[in-house]
Amino acid sequence: MKPPNPKPLGPIPPGFAAIDGELAIGGCKASDLAAEMGTPLFVYARDRLTERVAALRAAMPTRLAIHYAVKANPFEPVLRHLAPLVDGFDIASGGELAIVQAAGIDPARVSFAGPGKRDAELEAAIAAGVTLNCESEGEADRTLAISARLGKAPRMAIRVNPDFDLKGSGMKMGGGAKQFGVDEDRVPALARRLIAAGVEWRGFHIFAGSQALSAEAIIDTQAQTIALAARLAEESGAALLHCNLGGGFGIPYFPGDTPVDIAAIGAALGDRFADLPEVLRETRFCIELGRYLAGESGVYLTRIVDRKESHGEVFLVTDGGLHHQLAASGNFGTVVRRNYPSAIATRFGAEPGEEASIVGCLCTPLDRLADKGHFPRAEVGDLVAVFCAGAYGASASPAQFLGQGPATEVLV
Ligand SMILES: *Cc1c(COP(=O)(O)O)cnc(C)c1O
Repeated sequence: MKPPNPKPLGPIPPGFAAIDGELAIGGCKASDLAAEMGTPLFVYARDRLTERVAALRAAMPTRLAIHYAVKANPFEPVLRHLAPLVDGFDIASGGELAIVQAAGIDPARVSFAGPGKRDAELEAAIAAGVTLNCESEGEADRTLAISARLGKAPRMAIRVNPDFDLKGSGMKMGGGAKQFGVDEDRVPALARRLIAAGVEWRGFHIFAGSQALSAEAIIDTQAQTIALAARLAEESGAALLHCNLGGGFGIPYFPGDTPVDIAAIGAALGDRFADLPEVLRETRFCIELGRYLAGESGVYLTRIVDRKESHGEVFLVTDGGLHHQLAASGNFGTVVRRNYPSAIATRFGAEPGEEASIVGCLCTPLDRLADKGHFPRAEVGDLVAVFCAGAYGASASPAQFLGQGPATEVLV
């Protein structure tokens, strides 16, 4: 046997208790959920979603509207649960427009960002009254042409490609050459043109990055974003009634990650709002968050179908894998593979007894949900939980790979 050398696991999010020595999600035991719904299974907890939105609202100034970024988790029951809790929804495709409409969400509460909007998507959005966050001059021309044909003014904002980015963010969406938004210096001219063309003007959308855990970095970016919005509004010659400040609030996924200090962010934003320049006095501000609202609410449950040893290492082979949890396998925007939080759900809270790697059922060595973690000894039939599965799990994994198909999803 090799000497054990376990690698750390990410922090398990708060709010998951044990019942009878098992992980409970929304008050339901993992084994009961798996027996009823089968595995692999995404379980999203209503109470976690509700509490998350409430905590965020309590920390932020009341003037700040909170939007949910649908691409993080477009599961219809999740959207229906969030609909009365958040102020708006941000979508990134015509497919997501259809999903929010099917969930009964008023399109007037929806904004649509994303490069490469096709004419049919623009048409559907204009017809429905969705706010289009315009990504380029070319998209603006197509939008105006389609709206002329429909005889309906579009609701339009300009997505700005800011010259700054969100420091320490997992995914940079601003700063330098980007496929997102219109470069700062070209925004005022486009804004004047759109306003003159008679669009329903919805201001600016300024999104500088994702998955930041540093409150300081977010505070700094929000200050720069508000200053930029003020300058662009001045140069556009119109008072700014709407401004989307982007998002970027991250969640702890990896060993050593700590939660973002939303109280500090809310306090700093409150100070900014108390001291706005004239051109922003009437502005309605919003932020748009995906993973921060939904990520920690979800658990991916998969069952161990084989237990084997190779060269002294234990492998727990599950019926799930990267086709549902690409990010946990380390193959979705991470440079160095680190372990997500995971546990043996059917032995939750038991003392670790061995070093084991939890792998999926795909024929690729990339399919690893936990690398050399320290777990209670698990057997065939035990359930594995991968946490932080409420965002970019089901919606951002190649479910069709190897003919596996999607996992079942349930909101409890
Ligand atoms: C993806 C995306 C979001 C959500 O990002 P999270 O990291 O999930 O909060 C918000 N706004 C835009 C424009 C996006 O592309």
